[in-house]
Amino acid sequence: MIVGILGGGQLARMLALAGYPLGLDFVILDPSPDACAAQVAKQIVAEYDDSRALEDLARRCDLATFDFENVPAQAARFLAERVPVYPSPAALEAAQDRLGEKSLFKELAIPTPHFAPVDSREILEAAVAAIGLPAVLKTRRFGYDGKGQALLRRPEDLALAWEALGGVPLILEGFVPFEREVSCLALGGQDGAILTYPLVENRHREGILRLSTAPYDSGDLAVQAQDHVQKLLTRLDYVGLLAVEFFVRDGRLIANEMAPRVHNSGHWTIEGAETSQFENHLRAVTGLPLGSTKARGHSAMVNFIGQLPDRRDFLAVAGSHFHDYGKSSRPGRKVGHGTLRADDPDTLAVALRTVTGLGLDS
Ligand code: AMP
Repeated sequence: MIVGILGGGQLARMLALAGYPLGLDFVILDPSPDACAAQVAKQIVAEYDDSRALEDLARRCDLATFDFENVPAQAARFLAERVPVYPSPAALEAAQDRLGEKSLFKELAIPTPHFAPVDSREILEAAVAAIGLPAVLKTRRFGYDGKGQALLRRPEDLALAWEALGGVPLILEGFVPFEREVSCLALGGQDGAILTYPLVENRHREGILRLSTAPYDSGDLAVQAQDHVQKLLTRLDYVGLLAVEFFVRDGRLIANEMAPRVHNSGHWTIEGAETSQFENHLRAVTGLPLGSTKARGHSAMVNFIGQLPDRRDFLAVAGSHFHDYGKSSRPGRKVGHGTLRADDPDTLAVALRTVTGLGLDS
């Protein structure tokens, strides 16, 4: 069976690497001639809205999925008229617009920050008056890794934020003074089965994920997360992996955003879970039985941002695993990640301290 993937970054690359043992083959569509998944899969080099390229992809695959949520929904629909597409174009669309996403959370009674759409300077003033400061102004679409957002602390910050972001549809959100950030990776099968991985704790800096640790176990947060993601998967008729990011405040989960694809905060599952998020996403979209999402001990995932550490030093740390995405170095770019796995949290903490001593930019 041949799986088509819209997007050819590291997520597509890790999907392909997980899929070959299942007997799957891969064709990616990505406009970048040096897409890193092309090192392990066939590539069609074209823009996502190139209908001839999409026709070509549809002819060459049995079903399609995404490694990237900002593909035009129109392209996903075009493809879906020719081959099965999982998750569905409607689910993709639901996650593309922060306003639609937050409205869906609200409709499903999933706690989310106060929010309001902002389309003009006057509406921004009114939204700030309604929501209060501090608040976060974000572009509704195409935001990632903290790009396209500004924190408003004082009324004087509005002018600069509007200058930086105005001109495209925006959303204003109340600032959540969270204690930590966690994510829930959930899976929907074609038979309606729903599974969740243990919660992951995530640390970001400058909007970029630096460190994930799992399982994160506290109070009834896992129960809350399961309840929230179940509603989302059911509403969206979701097939594949869905990642939902939450803030934790006073023992409660507050939904920030969701991603309709495998997720950076799930990379630890390659070594740290019975079945990785990549394999399970592929099992879901190809209609195979889903694998166990149970954690194997305790894991930490460190992103390599900008450049790779020395692999010899990294691999000298007990329980470590190294993932090089085959990308060139560039400031702020995710070029790889490392995973540490241990049987108990104390051993994991020691390994993590050693890794931090390697001077990673994380
Ligand atoms: P996002 O692109 O929405 O995931 O935002 C990137 C990061 O900015 C999040 O992981 C948070 O650390 C922070 N952030 C985003 N929205 C809020 C908010 N409403 N309140 C507090 N922090 C936020």
